[in-house]
Amino acid sequence: MQPDKRHIDWRSPRLWRLIIQWLFFGWCLFLGVQFGLFVRHFETMGQTGYYPRPPGVEGFLPIGALVSLKAWIFTGDIDPVHPAALILFVTFLGMALLAKKSFCSFLCPVGTLSEAAWKLGQKLFGRNFRIWPWLDLLLRGVKYALLLFFVKLVLIDMPVLALRGFMAAPYWAIADVKMLHFFTQMSLTSLTIVVVLTLLSVPFKNFWCRFLCPYGALLGLLSMLSPFKITRRASSCIGCGACSRSCPALLDVQQKTQVHSPECTGCLTCASNCPVDGTLSMAFWKRPLPGIVFVGVVLLLFGGGVLTGMLSGHWQTILTYTDYQYLVPNASQLGH
Ligand code: SF4
Ligand code: SF4
Repeated sequence: MQPDKRHIDWRSPRLWRLIIQWLFFGWCLFLGVQFGLFVRHFETMGQTGYYPRPPGVEGFLPIGALVSLKAWIFTGDIDPVHPAALILFVTFLGMALLAKKSFCSFLCPVGTLSEAAWKLGQKLFGRNFRIWPWLDLLLRGVKYALLLFFVKLVLIDMPVLALRGFMAAPYWAIADVKMLHFFTQMSLTSLTIVVVLTLLSVPFKNFWCRFLCPYGALLGLLSMLSPFKITRRASSCIGCGACSRSCPALLDVQQKTQVHSPECTGCLTCASNCPVDGTLSMAFWKRPLPGIVFVGVVLLLFGGGVLTGMLSGHWQTILTYTDYQYLVPNASQLGH
């Protein structure tokens, strides 16, 4: 019997992932607008209304957060200027360690837009395209090269004294404002790059994530240690290939007993598309679990990380209204 298409299955992990992705995307937009209004208040010398600064915007400062993480490990001090950057970074690393690259498939706004873009490509062209295997392999190395560059720059080359200098510098204090300006005052070069990447994301699945994102590369490597793995029960598999065809990471799930690849985001698309109940699932230490449990784990990890930061007093910046009165109008001169 065919399932009733009008019936919404509220236990569907696919549905929940979609809801979480777009809710989080909307939340990021909301934070962006609120932060924009906060900055505008100081740029206009108080002529426009004051909106409190949302600390969540610090999630967009991953390189600074990497510096902050090293400083925390070596000095024991949590950076008080952008503490939420560290909290969010550690939360996302923890999510990768425990629940695969779920940050990419559930939370990352770039991932959400990329997915919307390739789904649009599917509608436009009837399918998505694949790059020649040799070029695909070569290009996938780019994100690891970028990751290596940042790891060397921050984790290897930066002495502890330099970490302290970075954390105390006006450039770090104003890094969130500079990030906002990157989007609101985009140079022609940046705009061209964004447009080209967006266009490439329509025919090719997750172009940015697959080839270029060093953050995703880091999370992918950590995710290999995750106890959660997509697991296929070969005895009941009918070899239809629906899992391999639907995988956004282009993994040949059909040929694997367990998916160990750092490219697997834990999106559960393969499991949702498998026509044989109980054949393909997210398993915890090889124990198959309903997909909705994995969705719950992802939410718990994210909520737990943020809440821990908030309750431990490492969420709000120590910068004051007076600090921002100086920092924001001088943003373009600071840190050159
Ligand atoms: S293997 Fe499954 S969970 Fe992993 S990326 Fe592919 S579709 Fe998503
Ligand atoms: S979708 Fe399910 S039944 Fe089909 S090949 Fe994949 S694991 Fe086997």
